[in-house]
Amino acid sequence: MKCALCPVACGVDRKRTIGYCGEKEDIRIAKYYLHTFEEPPISGEKGSGTVFFCGCSLKCEFCQNYALSRSQTGKVVTPSELADIFARLEEAGASNINLVTPTHFVPSIAKAFEIYRPKIPVVYNTHSYEPLETLKIADGFVDIYLADMKFFSPAISKRYTGKENYFEFASRAIEFMTDSKKIVFDDRGMMKSGVVVRHLVMPSCLDETRKIIGWFADKIGDRAYFSLMSQYTPFVKSEKHPELNRKITRGEYDRAFAALDSFGVKNFFIQQLGSADESFIPEWDF
Ligand code: SF4
Repeated sequence: MKCALCPVACGVDRKRTIGYCGEKEDIRIAKYYLHTFEEPPISGEKGSGTVFFCGCSLKCEFCQNYALSRSQTGKVVTPSELADIFARLEEAGASNINLVTPTHFVPSIAKAFEIYRPKIPVVYNTHSYEPLETLKIADGFVDIYLADMKFFSPAISKRYTGKENYFEFASRAIEFMTDSKKIVFDDRGMMKSGVVVRHLVMPSCLDETRKIIGWFADKIGDRAYFSLMSQYTPFVKSEKHPELNRKITRGEYDRAFAALDSFGVKNFFIQQLGSADESFIPEWDF
């Protein structure tokens, strides 16, 4: 069957061939563990039961999980083995099951949930470069969306990912998510259902940040939380894009934060500047 699970729609038969995302049909993961660095209502006390999937169809040049997104690491698991991993994370006290970059494996992940559906919420942690057809499958097993909004302008998304249509797909995807999942917290303040829109502030890209916050205030408002992330870390020296070879400055961070206020965004999380450190990036197990 020709794959069209992501907007690249490269059309390969993934039973036999690796797609643009770097993966065949078999699920491959690089790590699963209790991750404590998500937003507080997601991480909780013991951490979010996070499963990192290999491959990616967006391929940002500055990817913070480069070896993972470029499929340089990982091991194959069957849907049944993945279901066992969900059960193990739940047993270990995970606040939720957190699927990181799952888009290109959605039908196989759905099979894992048919085998075992944990009682804790399921989080879909995505770059948001998603067609609605794939999201509608995922929506059947998802409670919470952690959805990036990375770029506003076609020129900037083309510059850093090679894709001009990022915002077109991501904005449609996030509107679908907020229509589908209402925000609900439990009595301990943990998110049971809802959407968190994440934006990573990039060096020299404050104009993008302001436009994204403006879009959020206008189109999404209090139907979701906004998460302003400051953890951008340059891992490789980019000769093509030298402006990416630094962390964000205090001034950029402060101006991004001020934009939340000026657009009247009330529901938000912020990350302190100290989060921009390589030690916050996990080591891969497989
Ligand atoms: S998910 Fe992978 S194989 Fe499928 S269309 Fe996207 S890039 Fe191609």
